[in-house]
Amino acid sequence: MAASTSLLTISLGITNIYLIRGESIVLVDGGDKGKFTSFCKALEKNSIDPKEINLIVLTHTHWDHTGHLAEIVKLTGAKILVHAEESERLSQDIAVTPPGITGWGWFLVKTLLKGRMPSEFTKYHADIVMEGEDYSLADWGIEGKIIHTPGHSPGSISVVLEDGAAFVGDMAMNIFPLRLSPGMPIFAECPEKITASWDRILSAGAKQIYPAHGKNFPIEKLKRDLPKIY
Ligand SMILES: [Zn+2]
Ligand SMILES: [Zn+2]
Repeated sequence: MAASTSLLTISLGITNIYLIRGESIVLVDGGDKGKFTSFCKALEKNSIDPKEINLIVLTHTHWDHTGHLAEIVKLTGAKILVHAEESERLSQDIAVTPPGITGWGWFLVKTLLKGRMPSEFTKYHADIVMEGEDYSLADWGIEGKIIHTPGHSPGSISVVLEDGAAFVGDMAMNIFPLRLSPGMPIFAECPEKITASWDRILSAGAKQIYPAHGKNFPIEKLKRDLPKIY
């Protein structure tokens, strides 16, 4: 039986990364570029030995989630897990900017995102390629699982813990200037899959949503966006 979990949120630029501690520590995402000292300071402040971090789950492979992957792997020795639908992008250094799916999203892609996108990327080898729809975290000492939740990107995955905490990457957003309140992604590569994926996140028992961009919020805040599900 895995131990109960505790959580630490570290904001690196516009991207949150989450440390989930059970019997070992699983890290969700690799952050935005340029803030590695903040990551190290946060570990030190919370008395976390980097070697306790054994697994890095990439919710997806967009550049604002892989910014410090190289440094984090070097520091921790952790393995990288990515979904099969995006393992090729990671290993071939293919940078994708998702298209805007709202007027505001479209505008931001043409302006803000364009300016922030780094000019160079790093190729990574994924140690674990998630092939199916579910992956248990029991072997990593965490009471929870990873589920495939395509929509924002084809290989988007979400971590849902037994206690209802759900780390959904960019399948929800809750930060200015992306959104003024919690809601669906404003950029997406396969928007037609978003609703079905949210159905899966809810079925997995999600109660509190932890987006990569912005503060966490209760699932009820998404009622307006998920009329078919509620
Ligand atoms: Zn993204
Ligand atoms: Zn993102």
